Amino acid sequence: MLSKSGKPTSAGAALGQHQADFEGLLEAAPDAMVGVDRAGVIRFVNRQTETLFGYGPGALIGRLIETLVPESFRTIHQGLRERYAAAPKTRALGYELELRGRRWDGSEFPVDISLSHTGAGDDLLVIAAVRDMTARNEAEASRRQSDRMSAVIEFSGEAIISTAPDGSITSWNPAAERLYGYTRQEVIGKPVSLLVPEGLADESAAIQTKLLAGRHVESLEAVRVRKDGKVITVLLTVSPICDKDGAVVGASAVARDVTEEKQAAQNARSLAEAEDLVRTMMASAAIGIALADLDGRFRVVNQSLRDLVGYHEAWFKAHRVRDMVHPDDLDDVLRRRTRVLAGSSDTAKVRLVRADGTTVWVRRVSVLIRDVDGEPNLLMVQVEDITAEHEAHEALAFQAIHDPLTGLHNRAWILDILAADLRAAKRAGTAVGTMFVDLDNFKIVNDSLGHAAGDEVIATVAERIVAALRPGDRVGRFGGDSFVIVVQDVRDVLDVERFAERVSAAIGVDLQVHGHRIVPTASIGIAVSSSTSMPEGLLRDTDSALHRAKAAGRGRWQFFDDAMHAKAVARLTVEDQLRDAITAGEFVVVYQPIVTLAEATVVGHEALVRWAHPTRGLLSPADFLDVAEDSGLITPIGAQVLDHVAAMLAECPDLPGPISVNVSAVQLAAPDWLGGVTDTLARHGVDPSRIVIEVTETAALSLTGPALNALTTLSGLGVGIHLDDFGTGYSSISVLRDLPVTGVKLDLRFVRDLTTRPSQANALAHGLAGLVNGMNLTGIAEGIETATQANILRAQGWRLGQGYFFGRPAAIPVTDLFTGDVMDA
Ligand code: C2E
Ligand code: MG
Ligand code: MG
Repeated sequence: MLSKSGKPTSAGAALGQHQADFEGLLEAAPDAMVGVDRAGVIRFVNRQTETLFGYGPGALIGRLIETLVPESFRTIHQGLRERYAAAPKTRALGYELELRGRRWDGSEFPVDISLSHTGAGDDLLVIAAVRDMTARNEAEASRRQSDRMSAVIEFSGEAIISTAPDGSITSWNPAAERLYGYTRQEVIGKPVSLLVPEGLADESAAIQTKLLAGRHVESLEAVRVRKDGKVITVLLTVSPICDKDGAVVGASAVARDVTEEKQAAQNARSLAEAEDLVRTMMASAAIGIALADLDGRFRVVNQSLRDLVGYHEAWFKAHRVRDMVHPDDLDDVLRRRTRVLAGSSDTAKVRLVRADGTTVWVRRVSVLIRDVDGEPNLLMVQVEDITAEHEAHEALAFQAIHDPLTGLHNRAWILDILAADLRAAKRAGTAVGTMFVDLDNFKIVNDSLGHAAGDEVIATVAERIVAALRPGDRVGRFGGDSFVIVVQDVRDVLDVERFAERVSAAIGVDLQVHGHRIVPTASIGIAVSSSTSMPEGLLRDTDSALHRAKAAGRGRWQFFDDAMHAKAVARLTVEDQLRDAITAGEFVVVYQPIVTLAEATVVGHEALVRWAHPTRGLLSPADFLDVAEDSGLITPIGAQVLDHVAAMLAECPDLPGPISVNVSAVQLAAPDWLGGVTDTLARHGVDPSRIVIEVTETAALSLTGPALNALTTLSGLGVGIHLDDFGTGYSSISVLRDLPVTGVKLDLRFVRDLTTRPSQANALAHGLAGLVNGMNLTGIAEGIETATQANILRAQGWRLGQGYFFGRPAAIPVTDLFTGDVMDA
């Protein structure tokens, strides 16, 4: 463009020959080319230069090169130019200097300049190729920034992903891999909705809409799902990515996992809420609540519980839950505690002891409370006052089996208990006695004095019956004026009759009712069970016995069974008469001789009691001994017998041998028996060796310590001890060893059964003879009625005998027997 500049220069002359080529080159160069002479004057430019710097054609020619340099740079530029002129060297300037150009309009822009030159000295022409660096610099800056961004993204702890407008993932940093569990390869190109749980697509779409509108989504708490299916909560910040023109070309999302923070916050919130709730609930609860540690020490006690038991705050601090439990319920409570600690909740009815010592019934629910890790932590004990409920229940239960007027049991209960008593009696081999006690003429009391008076009489009679009972007896009211009594463990009908007598006597005492004197009497029906009795049947019998008692004239008792009744009456009569007989001294003694079987020599006597009954004649022990033993009257009777015997011995000192006296177990058990015996002997001056005590083998088996001692003492004094009815007991040999026995009397049943042929009785009698002789005991065979029996026994080894064959019991002992030829010598 030199030609167009119009002004020829020295450089132009130097270039002259290649002018056309040079101009072509200049115009074809991509950069702006400026030629400057040694003085800094622009000698040529190409069109690109004029365009770049905004000048018209040729406008730059002849101007100083500094025209194209910003003001602030001119001094430096001049210096550079002058140094180059002094030592020209082709080089590229640019980056290092951050050169800038100045346009015609004054605006500046970055340039890169490459210098070269031609000519030398004054002809030096510097050629500068100027390149506009604006675009390149910007690109470079943006590239650098992008590099920095990449690094930031790569090492960020937060998941950073970017998406295209269609929602497909375009970038995915390692933190995103960690957060969502997908690798970069797995997600690039996939829709970002992959991370959104089903059902939350709407929320995700809403974000997308905002982004497309160019808006940010800031700190949004969103739920996302990981590759492994785990749902997480993230804090999202999503920004649109826009190009220069503001068009949205994608989005970037930064996500931080806040699942745990959120959970912790949630937990803290719910814990605080729960605590609040518990506190409020406990404070306002109508039932008593205590929180205790596993040891039972109180931690928190609500007002209701404090009010219920009345203990002060300080008491609860120093005590455990068990300390307020009633001692009778403590075992149960401690047992249940174990179950509660094992994790099962427990409901129980227990008693608590209040501060004032009174008892309160509560329903108590205990629950084990665990901490967040599931470890047992506390016990929650709730107690509800159910005293009223309990009392109502008890009252109902009481009413169900009690008669309201007398407080006695009612018919229903008696029927139940009777069934049980009957079963027990059957097992024990005893009987149950039932009695209906019915007031006589009660209707008259009721009608004349009124029901209130009648009730009073009933209540009083009930008290009197109760007072007459023995432990274990049952009484109930069957309505109206009739009562039922159940007597357990009946061994003898007589017991029931005696009891009836006692009840009758207890009832029949004067009574003041509403100013009137009444003597109540009762008729009593009695039945005694058999092994097949049933409650209803037994009560029916009792009832019919009662009707007969009423019919027979009131104020008396009647047995259901006549024979039973007769027997009972007889025995009762006997007992009464025995008492009188003792006083009257109606007992006499008969003596039966004891002889040698070889020669029938009298060697002693047995004293046998007889009752000289005023109307019935001389009665044998069989007629009264049972009653005498049952009633204990045998003791005074026995004393009289011994007295007679001692008197006899004292009177007839020449009687052969001792006199044997029978003593029953009842006598032996009497505490003063031994003293009585020694006193009697001493009183009559009788040598103890002239007395033999006969104790039945059966009685000997049941002897207690004191009785044994008594026998031993007597034996020591020289009194003989014989086992009577020997062979009927079951431990003959041990009895012989353990007792101070001096002789035995073979029971008359053996003797009766003896035959001339071999038999069991023969064998036994024979064996026992050997035993007796072997032990050096006195052996006496009883009840010998024939010579044959005497001979067999003698042949077996029995040396002594007793029986009608030798002599019947008689009032006077004999010294000699005349047997004549009856003896088989
Ligand atoms: P036991 O001690 O075995 O007396 C023998 C019984 O057999 C007497 O009956 C006697 O009379 C009877 N007896 C004697 N020889 C014969 C005979 O050949 N054949 C028959 N069948 N019987 C004979 P008893 O006197 O009726 O006495 C009965 C039982 O009463 C006595 O049996 C004795 O255990 C008891 N007993 C008698 N007297 C007393 C007494 O003073 N005190 C006590 N505690 N018990 C007495
Ligand atoms: Mg005897
Ligand atoms: Mg006997």
